[in-house]
Amino acid sequence: FSSVEITRHLLDRIQQLDGNYNSFITVTEELAMTQAAAADERLSKGEAPALCGVPIAHKDIFCTSGVRTSCGSKMLDNFVPPYDATVVENFNAASAVTLGKTNMDEFAMGSSNETSFYGPVRNPWNTDCVPGGSSGGSAAAVAAQLAPGTTATDTGGSIRQPAALTNTTGLKPTYGRVSRWGMIAFASSLDQAGPIARNAEDAAYLLSAMVGHDPKDSTSLNRPVQDYTLNLNDSIAGLKIGVPKEYFGEGLNADTAARVQDALKEFEKLGAELVEVSLPHTDLAVPAYYVIAPAEASANLSRFDGVRYGYRCEDPQDLRDLYMRSRGEGFGDEVQRRILVGTYALSAGYYDAYYNKAQQVRRLIKQDFVQAFEKVDVIMGPTSPSPAFALGAKKADPVAMYLEDIYTIATNLAGLPGMSLPCGLVNNLPVGLQIIGNYLDEARMLNVAHQYQ
Ligand code: GLN
Repeated sequence: FSSVEITRHLLDRIQQLDGNYNSFITVTEELAMTQAAAADERLSKGEAPALCGVPIAHKDIFCTSGVRTSCGSKMLDNFVPPYDATVVENFNAASAVTLGKTNMDEFAMGSSNETSFYGPVRNPWNTDCVPGGSSGGSAAAVAAQLAPGTTATDTGGSIRQPAALTNTTGLKPTYGRVSRWGMIAFASSLDQAGPIARNAEDAAYLLSAMVGHDPKDSTSLNRPVQDYTLNLNDSIAGLKIGVPKEYFGEGLNADTAARVQDALKEFEKLGAELVEVSLPHTDLAVPAYYVIAPAEASANLSRFDGVRYGYRCEDPQDLRDLYMRSRGEGFGDEVQRRILVGTYALSAGYYDAYYNKAQQVRRLIKQDFVQAFEKVDVIMGPTSPSPAFALGAKKADPVAMYLEDIYTIATNLAGLPGMSLPCGLVNNLPVGLQIIGNYLDEARMLNVAHQYQ
């Protein structure tokens, strides 16, 4: 098949089926067909990159030149960036085809995709259930076979948890491995982009196109580009898998635990050894995150003031009115909640009690992982505490929603890579197995996942 044929097929599928899922905010039909034709041209000349002509979709958090980039928010409903994010630029250079921009929680804040200004995404496995969040659109689009792969971002679990809930494979790389330039910032010390795909092999192709040093992002790691497809078939005999006892305690759904345990037994059959490890500060990860992430978000989101770009209220009376009403009307409830929490945590008199404490806890959490990785090669456990829940079930209870990320958040605080891969079903709803790797050990994680798949 030519790229034009495949792209046309997927655009038709999106048009026919996405009314059921709402996984796209914008479909870039014209751009896709132009890129596909150019990719076919390149393919006909031979020597083309692996992703040449492959249609993908980008989470609507990545700036795309000439294409509306909303970040799931009314605030940016009319925002058309004049440039591409580095991640998008990399895919364009590889002649991948952009099908469109995927739905997401507003400013990536959420675990169910219900905070999007464009309405919730529905889980292709059961449309009464959420697909997870914040990259719910990117995960649902892959699960519904509207795109073979998508880009996504993960600040506290937003690649892995939606991957788990939709039976897809998602990987959050080591902090700094992928450039954040042109990716709308939520919590800059935690944000990291990565792929969602149908399996580890496809994820390896996508990740290989995403990584690399970028002088435009000062936190980008100065490491060479890497081909993650090279080690997929290595044997994992002798692999030491750490199983943290804190990840199997209270709060974990029993059926989810059973699927994860079955997967661990499969790894034993492949020659791996299971080693119990302890991550004693696990229960402090969610509270520390919900101080640090909102604090950083409150600073990052101060740029949306109704003056330079984005939403502006009607008939402002003066500058203060312009700021207040533009932000009050442009941001949804969850975003406003985070800004309030973050501003409070950073204010004089509270900074030491909250922000400083949270940073100290972050250090301890990182230490837990460093000690565990002295004994094991990878760590495994559940990605999320239960399978997909019903739309609306946790919407009114922020704390219940925040606990969705209890097993994923610590890796962001530590800067470690983490991935989720399918490991079975419970009542026809997918369960995800999480693999946490050591710093820059993405190739091994993909190898381990590929051997299981
Ligand atoms: N669910 C978490 C939150 O709401 C994580 C989101 C993310 O990783 N972007 O903050």
